[in-house]
Amino acid sequence: MDFVQRTIDLARQNVTEGGRPFATVIAKDGAVLAESANQVAQTSDPTAHAEILAIRAACTRLGTEHLTGTTIYVLAHPCPMCLGSLYYCSPDEVVFLTTRESYEPHYVDDRKYFELGTFYAEFAKEYGERRLPMRYEPREAAVAVYAYWQERNGGERRVAGAPAAGHANREPGPGAG
Ligand SMILES: [Zn+2]
Repeated sequence: MDFVQRTIDLARQNVTEGGRPFATVIAKDGAVLAESANQVAQTSDPTAHAEILAIRAACTRLGTEHLTGTTIYVLAHPCPMCLGSLYYCSPDEVVFLTTRESYEPHYVDDRKYFELGTFYAEFAKEYGERRLPMRYEPREAAVAVYAYWQERNGGERRVAGAPAAGHANREPGPGAG
């Protein structure tokens, strides 16, 4: 299976059907685990990017939120939302087939608070300097929700680079099993 060609074909087919020119194929062990084209035009859901939909399908299929052992093919270098979702699911590799600079002359997706050319720069700013109006309303009771979670789930914090150690992965305690 040529995953690159599959990604291009999916996106091209989506354009034929009135959709937007983006697609994602998630490959594992030489086969397609999940795939999707962008569905924003078809569903009016602005988060229905190909990456998001394919990641959801792959994680549902495997019953895990971790896509280690997969390679994710995307038609275009991911937007900040999708880049975030790619970090969250931990694939072995992400392969992109076009850069923003190469597709921007042929595609428009300007929004109230960003243009394709400024989107990454917006994320790097302090929240008060972003075009998206954001307001910080500090509440002790809101922090207390996290203390409550810690009470129920333990206080272990992961250090960057350490292996995942969620409570679901813990060794059974003495007497278990
Ligand atoms: Zn995206």
